[in-house]
Amino acid sequence: MSTIKRILVTGGAGFLGSHLCERLVEQGHDVICVDNFFTSQKSNVVHLLDHANFELVRHDVTHPLWLEVDEVYNLACPAAPGHYQYNPIKTMKTSVMGSINLLGMAKRCRAKILQASTSEVYGDPQVHPQPESYRGSVNPIGPRACYDEGKRAAETLFMDYHRHNRVNVRIVRIFNTYGPRMHPYDGRVVSNFIRQAIAGENITVFGDGDQTRSFCYRDDLVEGIIRMMNGPDEFIGPVNIGNPGEFTILELAEKVIELTGSKSKIIHQPLPADDPTQRQPVIDLAKKHLDWEPKIALAEGLEKTIAWFKTIDVNEYRAPTP
Ligand code: NAD
Ligand code: UDP
Repeated sequence: MSTIKRILVTGGAGFLGSHLCERLVEQGHDVICVDNFFTSQKSNVVHLLDHANFELVRHDVTHPLWLEVDEVYNLACPAAPGHYQYNPIKTMKTSVMGSINLLGMAKRCRAKILQASTSEVYGDPQVHPQPESYRGSVNPIGPRACYDEGKRAAETLFMDYHRHNRVNVRIVRIFNTYGPRMHPYDGRVVSNFIRQAIAGENITVFGDGDQTRSFCYRDDLVEGIIRMMNGPDEFIGPVNIGNPGEFTILELAEKVIELTGSKSKIIHQPLPADDPTQRQPVIDLAKKHLDWEPKIALAEGLEKTIAWFKTIDVNEYRAPTP
């Protein structure tokens, strides 16, 4: 029988965090979800409140937190460009001060702590596809830097707490992930395209649509990060978790139109500054050390996501507020 652990999930009310909480609650762990609801809604976790092993705390991780836990999954951070650029200084604080507060707590409690890092640490990559050994090409002064550099600084903090304070850390670099419970107005490509297609609005492809992304379905992703947390202590990462299937944004738009049966037309809008031209993970390390690889193909994942979007009232989702 597996041991019951006290597990803190920061950003636990968000798109990925709420699914992670669900999985951990199902496994019988005592789960504390901490969130300031900057980019999420209570509706993401309200169904978990009935469980005796789930607790919800409204808290901002840029402030210290005193809890007794065995494990921490640090997901607190706005993830969509429109969200993290809303208050870029706060985004950087969330990654840096949030990591310092949580690493300090992990050190005191002797807890294991996992950082949700990102493929954005590779910036606009000059090496393709991206292995973990690639050090990236990030513009440190651009509009994406608050997120990319914040996450890079967080990785540095995790490694230094590990080397100097023997904190048991894990670092996961997450590539574009999608699925039910994405915020319909987060501005990310999958949520935008599906919302637009269902509403019969124009599908907004930024630039010529030749830029690529690799899209991972949220269940595969959550499985990967749980495996990393529970993986061997010799393998702390960073590890890429993502789906190596690479698609152009134009291909994604066409797939969404096909799967929704929408009459929406594709229109082109200007490409945002520093938009990476390509992105695809090398997942050899995850395969080798975690026996993990994604199982859900893009079409299948999109179908599930479209089905969920059809059940929600998008007007009930609010824009991020401080
Ligand atoms: P999300 O915006 O749905 O979730 C982030 C959560 O963190 C939200 O609930 C938000 O309210 C909370 N939060 C933000 N700032 C906070 C603060 N200061 N204190 C407490 N809570 C705070 O995004 P997501 O897609 O679920 O992303 C979760 C994590 O995974 C993030 O750290 C993100 O950087 C990382 N990630 C996600 C993706 C992806 O494609 N979804 C890709 C790479 C990395
Ligand atoms: N994108 C797009 N139309 C949209 C939203 C995004 O063409 O309505 C493009 C965006 O320019 C980028 C890609 O889709 O090239 C992925 O964008 P997203 O914000 O989802 O993720 P990220 O750029 O952080 O990988």
